[in-house]
Amino acid sequence: MTYQELKDEEQLYLMHTYGRFPVALDHGKGATLWDTEGKKYIDMTSGIGVNSLGHDNTALVDALNAQAHKLMHASNLYLTEPMVQVAKELVTSCEMGKIFFSNSGAEANEGMIKLARKYSFDKYGEGRNKIITLKQSFHGRTVTTLKATGQEKFHQYFFPFTEGFDYAAANDIEDFKSKIDDSVCAVMMEMIQGEGGVLPLDREYVEQAAAICKEKDILFLIDEVQTGIGRTGSLFCYEQYGIKPDAVSMAKGLGGGVPVGAVMASVKCADVLGAGTHGTTFGGNPFCCTAAQTVLSIVNKPEFLKEVREKGEYLKDSIQSLGSSKVKTVRGMGLMLGIVVDKEIRASLVNQLLEKGVLALTAGEEAIRLLPPLVISYEEMDSAVAVMKEVFGA
Ligand SMILES: *Cc1c(COP(=O)(O)O)cnc(C)c1O
Repeated sequence: MTYQELKDEEQLYLMHTYGRFPVALDHGKGATLWDTEGKKYIDMTSGIGVNSLGHDNTALVDALNAQAHKLMHASNLYLTEPMVQVAKELVTSCEMGKIFFSNSGAEANEGMIKLARKYSFDKYGEGRNKIITLKQSFHGRTVTTLKATGQEKFHQYFFPFTEGFDYAAANDIEDFKSKIDDSVCAVMMEMIQGEGGVLPLDREYVEQAAAICKEKDILFLIDEVQTGIGRTGSLFCYEQYGIKPDAVSMAKGLGGGVPVGAVMASVKCADVLGAGTHGTTFGGNPFCCTAAQTVLSIVNKPEFLKEVREKGEYLKDSIQSLGSSKVKTVRGMGLMLGIVVDKEIRASLVNQLLEKGVLALTAGEEAIRLLPPLVISYEEMDSAVAVMKEVFGA
């Protein structure tokens, strides 16, 4: 079908929940995509940080093909090998405790919130259930994770929301301290606020917040749904902050395009969620966990992660050395970058990039967000930067 045919039928049959770009994507290879009209794009989005191995990755496609022939899904009432293997790889790599598999980032965060509240309930009884998150954060679209999200615009229409969340200003340790009292069971934050604008937290702030949590037995929860699985040049971004979380959520890049999420708990809270307290039909199924297993077999290697850091530096430097007066700064880590521009011109810049063959995202009010596949080549990055040069100008 052509773009116009798809657009016409979309108008009729799909809820209009997304402000879409005027493109219908058809297929891809590496970090290059083609639309239904045959136009080519460099993919600087990877489906919002999902296609970590790019498009049509042979290892991933072959592994999924083999697993689909073998066993696509089995109930969690039975064991299957891929889920055990992925759990073992993540837990041993991170020296954590145990894992629960979900189907999305929001669900991973839901699991993490339940874990934190039950940890506190088991140990301290009722009433100690508040979770502090950060202003400008994003934690998902379920009724609870919307409320966990520290942005007023997400707290509309769907009343009543889940109670027990409060919001501290990012990188402000005094504000953080002022929110901590005896009703707090956990703190949840992204190391780099993704949707909020590609805003990295300061190392000192994170260290201090983690220390306060440790002292008061408040769980330190990290949402690595966007930053995790090699995106920032380490398996998880928190490693670069020198801290150890009590639990970490992940999703987006974990399955390389297949929906899979997880919450991983430290040894201290590994056994909080016991039989009957949590579950999901699809979570951890052999097809999705084969995807995760393949992604980890490629991404969770020191050489690969080093390459992500190097490519990230290269891309950041290339954009900065365009010397464009429109680019205020480039921030982020690894292959998670935000090009900060005036908010008045941002939409026009992103649309021009698209017209000239580069797919890019936005974040917050003033960032153009780049989340290319981790396997993007230097050639593909150079092509994208050449287009940016035309669009951003001197
Ligand atoms: C995308 C995202 C989520 C939500 O993930 P879904 O898979 O869309 O539910 C949660 N937290 C962060 C940091 C994200 O970037």
